[in-house]
Amino acid sequence: MIFGRQYTFWFCVGSQDLYGAECLEHVAEHARIMVERINASGLLPFPLTLKPTLLTSSMIRATFNEANADDSCAGVITWMHTFSPAKSWIAGLQEFRKPLMHLLTQFNREIPYDSIDMDFMNENQSAHGDREYGHAVTRLGIERKVIAGYWEDEKVLARVASWMRTAIGVVESRRIRVLRMADNMRNVAVTEGDKVEALQVFGWEVDAYPSSEIAHAVRDVAQGDVNALVDEYYERYTILLDGRDPAEFRRHVAVQAQIEIGIERFLKEKNYQAVVTHFDDLEGLQQLPGLAIQRLEEKGYGFGAEGDWKTAAMVRLMKLMTAGMKDAKGTSMLEDYTYNMVPGKEGILQAHMLEICPTLADGPISIRCQPLSMGRREDPARLVFTSKTGSGIATSLIDLGTRFRLVIQEVDCKKNEKPMPKLPVATAFWTPKPDFYTGLEAWVLTGGAHHSSFSFDLSAEQMADWAAYMGVEAVVLDSSTTIRDLKRDLALGRLIYR
Ligand code: MN
Repeated sequence: MIFGRQYTFWFCVGSQDLYGAECLEHVAEHARIMVERINASGLLPFPLTLKPTLLTSSMIRATFNEANADDSCAGVITWMHTFSPAKSWIAGLQEFRKPLMHLLTQFNREIPYDSIDMDFMNENQSAHGDREYGHAVTRLGIERKVIAGYWEDEKVLARVASWMRTAIGVVESRRIRVLRMADNMRNVAVTEGDKVEALQVFGWEVDAYPSSEIAHAVRDVAQGDVNALVDEYYERYTILLDGRDPAEFRRHVAVQAQIEIGIERFLKEKNYQAVVTHFDDLEGLQQLPGLAIQRLEEKGYGFGAEGDWKTAAMVRLMKLMTAGMKDAKGTSMLEDYTYNMVPGKEGILQAHMLEICPTLADGPISIRCQPLSMGRREDPARLVFTSKTGSGIATSLIDLGTRFRLVIQEVDCKKNEKPMPKLPVATAFWTPKPDFYTGLEAWVLTGGAHHSSFSFDLSAEQMADWAAYMGVEAVVLDSSTTIRDLKRDLALGRLIYR
């Protein structure tokens, strides 16, 4: 998946002219070496762009405003090489609107005990400068990431890389547009929400279209295009006929191919990157979009079922944050379906009626075509697989009436204990942290939905940081969660976020 723009992060070095031109030449040289080596390390997903050393208030203000205006700039990493009087930063910081990071590091790793003199110490005083600058950012109340460590250490660069993906989530959030096919499922609470507030807080545009209009786009797809896509499906996936007539099976699959092409064309034409469907409003469609939606999710579109536009936007967001990641294991909408409460084997079976993203798949993916009472349409074709294993995060963005809360839970995905030959949908199986029962109670107390946007490739820290940049409450449920502390945190959240 591509963004359509090449992002870079600006590396801005703080100093002042107290120690003369020679010192400033060294500052610039150190910064140049750092940016070159960090970029050459291959450890960051996006390159750093070195900016001229920042010395004065007017220069700092101009640089931050240039960063605001430059579409390719996804954030600014600040590093205090020397002491940089922080009043100089206030105007620039106040006007800056992109993700900010403060890297606590120093050009030299070790104090040169034998040779250190006052000149060296004055030139290399990040420890001093970090506190002055950090104080100003804290006083201004500006959300920023602070990362401490030696700049060449892989662990430090891994944290910078991880923050960069959070920053992409922040800047890309403003570009997310969700297409709603019809309205939300009737009587369901958690999939509702304030769409004006979502635009204000996250930048999401959420628009509804009659399903019949989208069905028109589907009907307009030429048969030749449909046949070519069906051929592609048949090459790529295992066909499980389940006793059905092969020609009839293929015709059912072709309906999904036509839906895939039609919906994608509609999304592209109207500039949407996420879509929701609702099984109760499929005017003009022969089948509930199943395989079609799964393929769109794999291409990077967001999806939410039953009109769940918040989940659709979150899936899109998390796919953007993981775009281009090496060895990515997948991101999808999932739904808590059914529990296994056997001692030692506890977990929650994750599935949906059809629409799980195949990026999660472990091993071969099959196409099956089975009856589905929901939607009152002909038997939909769908992709069936089981998920990879390992740690991941389930997130649920909920609307509490006056504000949003992002619930983030760490989960362990496991293999299904046994095959489920009669269950014709894609599945995952996970145990929430800190343990099955506490994790379950914590999720429900926090108000998390039955739909989640799940990823193997993002951390709770990244999503909590994203929420902080957005100014919304994040509640992280992980190995250190206890119900007593959680209740206190939720009570505090009610006071802090209104
Ligand atoms: Mn659902």
